Amino acid sequence: MNADKKLYNDFNSYLRRTYGGKTKRIPLNSSLGCPNRENGRIGCIYCLNGSSSPSSKGFLSVSEQLKEFIFKYRLSKENTSCNLIAYFQAYTNTYTNSSKLFEMLFPVSSFTEIKAVAIGTRPDCIDPLKLATIKKAVPEKDIWIEYGLQSISSKTLKFIKRGHDVKAFQKAIKLTKQYEIKTGVHVILGFPWEKKKYIIKLARFISECDLDFIKIHLLHVLKNTALEKMYMSKRITLPSFKNYVHMASDLIEHLPKKIVIQRLTGEGSKNNHVAPLWALKKTKVIQAINDELIKRGSFQGKYA
Ligand code: SF4
Repeated sequence: MNADKKLYNDFNSYLRRTYGGKTKRIPLNSSLGCPNRENGRIGCIYCLNGSSSPSSKGFLSVSEQLKEFIFKYRLSKENTSCNLIAYFQAYTNTYTNSSKLFEMLFPVSSFTEIKAVAIGTRPDCIDPLKLATIKKAVPEKDIWIEYGLQSISSKTLKFIKRGHDVKAFQKAIKLTKQYEIKTGVHVILGFPWEKKKYIIKLARFISECDLDFIKIHLLHVLKNTALEKMYMSKRITLPSFKNYVHMASDLIEHLPKKIVIQRLTGEGSKNNHVAPLWALKKTKVIQAINDELIKRGSFQGKYA
């Protein structure tokens, strides 16, 4: 892949343009849980431990997690001038009341090297008070809220037991924008019934929502999930490498140029990933998407 020839608005270039130099994410665990995994709800069918990063440490406070990460990270000389992003990734990081949310975020404000705070959450777990609290807790930082949507098909949302609809997402985005907070979306590609027509519709929807970021995930199966049982009993098939490359390329060429693509595929760790096995070769997947765009003479926004 020619690193100088970017066919899409990639995240690393965005970070370099925005903050200069190297930027690293600190994965933080708020241990807030998820409303979709409580009160008899079993959670999204693909969810393993809140889709958390293996490095998440819920038993330490946010302040302790930050100090530990920054201490270890700074031990390496090459990292001394690195910008950092505090990333609340696992579970639903606004699933609490506003005073606890403030307590969780406020420690981030004292770390000058942290330039942005990224908060992953569900669209049905936000309200004006929470948004105002987030702004108040980290007033000097860029704030990004990433909402899990996964699909705009009501059939898919029901199938994956997402527990909210597309309207909840639209409402959350509209509200978040009122607080001048950057917005992002997670989508999953690869459900067998979602074809090219759907992908174009998805790109138009994302464009209409005027989002800042997108994370594109490949539908993949992790151990000990409901999806694993469905996959093992052949109740769902997964896309082939070639199909996924085509789907991701279709989406990219229909997305507006201004949206930053933070992620292009999805995979678990070597210990928990079940299928498809080709997904573990992430660099190869990303390179194949770039090659496909080159082959098509295409790029992000060509048909937006
Ligand atoms: S919303 Fe996230 S944490 Fe909650 S069940 Fe779904 S994937 Fe898991």
